[in-house]
Amino acid sequence: RVVSAAPVSPNEEAIERALRPKLLQEYVGQMKVREQLEIFIGAAKMRNEALDHVLLFGPPGLGKTTLSHIIAQELGVNLRSTSGPVLEKPKDLAALLTGLEKNDVLFIDEIHRLSPVVEEILYPALEDYQIDIMIGEGPAARSIKLDLQPFTLVGATTRAGMLTNPLRDRFGIVSRLEFYTAEELQRIVVRSAGLLDTPMDVEGGFEIARRSRGTPRIANRLLRRVRDYADVKGTGRITEDIAKRALAMLDVDPQGFDLMDRKLLEAVIHRFDGGPVGLDNIAASIGEERDTIEDVIEPYLIQQGFLQRTPRGRMATLAAYRHLGVTPPKAIGD
Ligand code: ADP
Repeated sequence: RVVSAAPVSPNEEAIERALRPKLLQEYVGQMKVREQLEIFIGAAKMRNEALDHVLLFGPPGLGKTTLSHIIAQELGVNLRSTSGPVLEKPKDLAALLTGLEKNDVLFIDEIHRLSPVVEEILYPALEDYQIDIMIGEGPAARSIKLDLQPFTLVGATTRAGMLTNPLRDRFGIVSRLEFYTAEELQRIVVRSAGLLDTPMDVEGGFEIARRSRGTPRIANRLLRRVRDYADVKGTGRITEDIAKRALAMLDVDPQGFDLMDRKLLEAVIHRFDGGPVGLDNIAASIGEERDTIEDVIEPYLIQQGFLQRTPRGRMATLAAYRHLGVTPPKAIGD
């Protein structure tokens, strides 16, 4: 994929960090989540208490990591970041937890990938700010309780349904991030272009925004590719024409779908007669992981009304047929 939703290189990550808003006020869109957090953060600060644990879920690139930084910043506390797969042993998590200061924020990305033994020590930590650790080995081994400072866990995951029930139940604040509108992405692209010192017409910015799959990370990434194109093929200014040509070169179609989106829709329509077809069959057919399809590719296609999730499998909609210029079967076309 030319433009995927996951960070790729350390360099890209550094740019991403630089473009990250630092305060709730600068965080574009997600009004409901922002309003809630504003109140809960304000209340926690007034009482000098730790904020309740927060679970953020939604497709990659929608701003979960950014929000965790903002929460710590607004609370005026330290942020410690890690991720589910990195915490291999209970002692990895214990070390992090015992290092937290009063009311600090611990961010765990991909929290659904915590191993069961690590998750186990998280429960009492979340509930009572305590952990049980084992000392010694063999018959002399014993477990002791350690008190922790009050803290806030911010967990991020692509799908809330992947968490175990006991873990999900321990979050007091559960927020789902939604895809952004073109107007919201426009504001993000304009802000980023300013930070990157890139002159851009309103129309050029909008063209990038509306083709970014509702995702800020993709908007920022497309902006940088279009900027390269403008530097080499134009005067450095991102005009509507430059944006359109650059996006065509990047295989982003006028609807904002990329190669993988089209590959998926084509497979469902041409190889499975429009569906219903199961996820595993789609995965095998287009050579993509099942999880990637479920977390990254299909949420946007479903949200845009090109794909439907039914109990018997995925189905292409009339819009998908039209988009690919294929005559729909009579049952759908009516
Ligand atoms: P996630 O953790 O959900 O995968 P990130 O928080 O890493 O996503 O966001 C990806 C990029 O998108 C960041 O570099 C950030 O600059 C930008 N971004 C995300 N959400 C917003 C927002 N609401 N306003 C402005 N920029 C955003």
